[in-house]
Amino acid sequence: MKAIHKWIPLSLIFLITISCREDDGQSLSNGTSDNDIITIQSTWFKVDYARPKTYLIREPRSQQGNVSYLLIGDEQALMIDTGSGENKAESGNKIKHIVDQLTSKPVSLLLSHFHFDHNQNIKEFDHVVFPQLESLEAQVSDDSIYYFSAEDLFIGSEPREVKVNKWLPLNTDIDLGNRVIQIINIPGHTDESVAVIDKTNKMAFLGDYLYNGALFAFDYADLTKYKKSIQYLIDNLTPDYQLFGAHGEPQIPFNKLETLQGLLSCITSNTCSSTSTTLWGKPADIYRYEGMSMVIFLNL
Ligand SMILES: [Zn+2]
Repeated sequence: MKAIHKWIPLSLIFLITISCREDDGQSLSNGTSDNDIITIQSTWFKVDYARPKTYLIREPRSQQGNVSYLLIGDEQALMIDTGSGENKAESGNKIKHIVDQLTSKPVSLLLSHFHFDHNQNIKEFDHVVFPQLESLEAQVSDDSIYYFSAEDLFIGSEPREVKVNKWLPLNTDIDLGNRVIQIINIPGHTDESVAVIDKTNKMAFLGDYLYNGALFAFDYADLTKYKKSIQYLIDNLTPDYQLFGAHGEPQIPFNKLETLQGLLSCITSNTCSSTSTTLWGKPADIYRYEGMSMVIFLNL
């Protein structure tokens, strides 16, 4: 989810973007080292590089300002999220053709969480990994199909389902090839939200749990989870970590972790005041604290 002023219904997003925008992405070289950074030319995507071997696949013209990430190891790559789906397909793909230009390593796809604005192109990926959460494992069918619920997607009706190819253990070192990551469950924005912590390169990818823009919670009861997650991140990340979010300007100043902790404490201790609003026809409260804001929906 992104800044409030950009919110429009998903159906309208598709109407606007498909009718007037065309993706003409192409690349000129191939490689995965810092000495061989790939440049992508695209009218839709803005692909930036963060050392080492990390691509920030931005959608600046998206109504949601999405940022997906590609982490490349020596043996395999991890894609975090699949983009907004607002752009026009090129050769049948909306985002995979970009990923294919960035790496020749096997790519696994991990969703930061299940909201509609992070999984619209999921069918373009043939190896989907899920965090090994008991609640998710209990929901897949015998043939490993996960069916997205209306609550999962928040708004929008796609995708309907995905095949889970592999479950990634939580809080466990996973080696992409000289690049060790961990998947951490950080509930708050949603229960299944995960962070990817790159221990080798001191990078943390936080999805919609924390990014540069108004944050969202969908129930006051979720603030307890939000607070527990921020405590974990503060306890386990050192200031030399780079933080990245899934919307807007990708990199998040490290001190925003403490700002978020302050915001959450302010709300739960009733020392912050809120203003009431209605978004997508749903009532919500908005809180502001030291330049950070959080929207909390009521009675969803
Ligand atoms: Zn989002």
